[in-house]
Amino acid sequence: MLPSGKFQAIVDQHLCTNCGLCADILGPEKVQMVISDQKELRPLATASFQSEDLDLVAQICPGLRIEGPDDALAEEPDTQTDLVWGHYKTIVRAHAGNPVHRWEGSTGGVLTGLAAMMLETGRIRFVLHVRASDVHPTFGEATLSFTEADVLRAAGSRYGPTAPMLKLTDALDLGMPFAFIARPCDLSALANLSERDPRIGELIRYRLAFVCGGPTVSLDIDRMIEKAGVDPEDLVAMRYRGRGCPGPTTMVTGDGTVTHRSYVDFLDPDGGTWPMPFRCKICPDGIGELADIAVSDTWIGGGPDQQTENTDPGNNALIVRTAAGLELVEAAERAGFLTLGDTIGPNDLNVYQPHQHDKKFAAWARLDGLRRSGRLFPKTRRLRLKKLAAKMPLDFNESQASGARSRAEALVPEILEPKAASRFGKQPSTNACRRCAEARN
Ligand SMILES: Cc1cc2nc3c(=O)[nH]c(=O)nc-3n(C[C@H](O)[C@H](O)[C@H](O)COP(=O)(O)OP(=O)(O)OC[C@H]3O[C@@H](n4cnc5c(N)ncnc54)[C@H](O)[C@@H]3O)c2cc1C
Ligand code: SF4
Ligand code: SF4
Repeated sequence: MLPSGKFQAIVDQHLCTNCGLCADILGPEKVQMVISDQKELRPLATASFQSEDLDLVAQICPGLRIEGPDDALAEEPDTQTDLVWGHYKTIVRAHAGNPVHRWEGSTGGVLTGLAAMMLETGRIRFVLHVRASDVHPTFGEATLSFTEADVLRAAGSRYGPTAPMLKLTDALDLGMPFAFIARPCDLSALANLSERDPRIGELIRYRLAFVCGGPTVSLDIDRMIEKAGVDPEDLVAMRYRGRGCPGPTTMVTGDGTVTHRSYVDFLDPDGGTWPMPFRCKICPDGIGELADIAVSDTWIGGGPDQQTENTDPGNNALIVRTAAGLELVEAAERAGFLTLGDTIGPNDLNVYQPHQHDKKFAAWARLDGLRRSGRLFPKTRRLRLKKLAAKMPLDFNESQASGARSRAEALVPEILEPKAASRFGKQPSTNACRRCAEARN
């Protein structure tokens, strides 16, 4: 099979997180991000794509490789480690100190407040993150923010297709210190690439993530928009949340009509579950293990209800994982950019994020189900997955594995090459044999 065909397997087997890194690094003559017939952002390899490009993708792609932080972090004396939530210095509730940041932000505006603080104090020259797309209203797009006004324009969660890494090369080529705010899998992509590009360690001063349950399937977003009485074709602007916590979902059409729906009504119009991509169902790290600070919501049970969404002033939980993150939080509080609340712990996170807690316990078995089906699967290290699975009853692990396997087989009934995972380019030797891989996990 041609290298481009093997590359296509990442997309066809639903492992692509549409981070955009392969397209950014290899350039449009080899890989372009295109909008698929499912209205998702997907990489498409051209005829110039060679086997050495496949080797590069095997090393950097977060669809194939997700690893936790260096063991050195665990050995620092003030690091605590929770089996589910990973390494941390402290876990604390907080909101942005500036009421505008708090209001504009998705939850308590902490990421917006920290970005503004880092810029104002000269710690960084810009932030690489995501804002609403000018071209496709339901999509997000990578952006470089140099001012507080830029940062505020990017506030709020984007649940549609977004490729945060598409501007990484632009950012690195500026040769100036910057911060990166993105999904946990984007931070994995960055860490994978840092093995090849020393500028990442030198220039990226802070890595911030939101705790991530996954974007919404793009065609389902259109279905939700239609359910709200708006034709997706007429849309010229869309804001999913923010301006309150979570704030309304706002849709603007070409004739100037503005339609608001409450967050709960918009995302859950049929009373069903929030549709998410397959890759996110098997995600081994939605909790930002590689971030200096991972930031989440604080709704009990994982989401707001009709009552809380009208009254919640917005508070985040911050998992402060590194010394750099701790120093940043303390300085941001001193400078008035953050208002810190109670110090909390992993048990509080379990209450706020039951879906993340449950997914972490199921991840190893789900990946094992994929592996057993002969499909590609993300190789993992230092994420405690095997230890977590060992806490679960055997029949739980078996049902998670067979569920993942059946879903994979239903999504991709035929695979061109059995045992495709072991033949995929030259991946780093993280999985030489299953027993070694399990021990590392
Ligand atoms: C797809 C998705 C899934 C999420 N799942 C969970 C979850 O399971 N549990 C939970 O507690 N919180 C989840 N969140 C995060 C939550 O919505 C808040 O973003 C988070 O609490 C930070 O709040 P904030 O007020 O500090 O954010 P803000 O101050 O509004 O800052 C948000 C930052 O995130 C960036 N951003 C927004 N969307 C994206 C995107 N798609 N990709 C990359 N960067 C982006 C923006 O550029 C901005 O810098 C999710 C967010 C998204 C986008
Ligand atoms: S590097 Fe990113 S965009 Fe490219 S295949 Fe992997 S996940 Fe998809
Ligand atoms: S759930 Fe995991 S794979 Fe999906 S977008 Fe979030 S971090 Fe990436």
